[in-house]
Amino acid sequence: MTLHRAFTFPGIPARVIFGSGTLAQVADAVTSLNRSKALILSTPQQAGQAQDVADRLGPLAAGMFTEAAMHTPVDVTERALAAYESADADCTIAIGGGSTTGLGKAIAIRNGADQVVIPTTYAGSEMTDILGETDKGEKTTRRDPAIRPELVIYDVDLTLGLPVPMTVTSALNAIAHAVEGLYAPDANPITDMMSVAAISAFRDHLPELVTNPAEPQARAEVLYAAWLCSATLGAVTMSLHHKLCHVLGGSFGLPHAETHAIMLPHTAGFNAVAALDRLAPVAEIMGGSVGGGLWDFAKGLGAPMRLSDLGLAEGDIARAAEIATRQPYANPRDFGQDDIAMILTAALRGTRPMT
Ligand code: NAD
Repeated sequence: MTLHRAFTFPGIPARVIFGSGTLAQVADAVTSLNRSKALILSTPQQAGQAQDVADRLGPLAAGMFTEAAMHTPVDVTERALAAYESADADCTIAIGGGSTTGLGKAIAIRNGADQVVIPTTYAGSEMTDILGETDKGEKTTRRDPAIRPELVIYDVDLTLGLPVPMTVTSALNAIAHAVEGLYAPDANPITDMMSVAAISAFRDHLPELVTNPAEPQARAEVLYAAWLCSATLGAVTMSLHHKLCHVLGGSFGLPHAETHAIMLPHTAGFNAVAALDRLAPVAEIMGGSVGGGLWDFAKGLGAPMRLSDLGLAEGDIARAAEIATRQPYANPRDFGQDDIAMILTAALRGTRPMT
């Protein structure tokens, strides 16, 4: 008799409400947490949606803070904490992408606030215990159970207007969570199932959104896939792909979703050599090789393909490779600075990975 593969599954701690029109449940969400004064968070661009949440909450709304910014700057968090205190709030509601979710997490890790998150992109921060913050140009990332939001409301309707370029790059960002989930040292049968289901759903439904971005069924399938990716990221250890994107965002100022979108075929192709079994479903779903299949999929969607288009120069590669190899971390394939330089050069020039 063959024993089943041994594994540990950490569980999925957050409560999730998924559907169309689910924003209508936001007041019930606050009371279900035994809270009654929510500070609503958003970026300046999504202040209108924050106001909509406030209107739906009525007396349960304590105020709004609409200054969330990319990479969770600590000075913004400090202003948000002051707003939280002066409003006498007892929880937060973050409506927006990963930047707004990050602000809610940064507040929670400092004062223990309960968090409701209403994601409007596919970035996937909402289900994780991960927080990246920037202070004086330095980005640091930590994991702590206190960072993880308590309740997530996915409302498909809020994603119908997500612009096509962001739809594509944000979805590829989500696929990166699933791909790294497959070869994570703590991958388990549940995260494997979630990853494979998510990558298949993106393959089947993302292309339709490029031509028909407000199609509700495809939006629902893609948001569901994004949830699976976020839950996977929240349950496993990140490897080379996320670490490299972190360096490119934190030290070179490259935009988050676009960087993930460009890097994924190259990091996955590099790791496929050592994790072919684990990544076989990716090649099967995308067709061709792991990296080549992902590259073809991204190109077909009109995604950005070259880091040079995001502002990275050939002269930056050696420094990026040096920073990326300072700390050891889990990865199925060993690597040194030369390997990182090779991966970055291919991503900078936009060449198609062979593996
Ligand atoms: P974002 O949150 O920075 O959003 C980009 C812009 O798009 C913002 O102006 C936002 O207001 C706007 N936007 C969001 N939803 C929209 C919609 N439906 N329609 C129109 N505009 C919309 O971008 P992101 O890619 O969602 O998140 C990136 C950030 O999230 C990064 O800082 C990254 O580090 C973080 N992140 C963290 C984790 C984690 O687990 N900690 C995971 C993924 C991403």
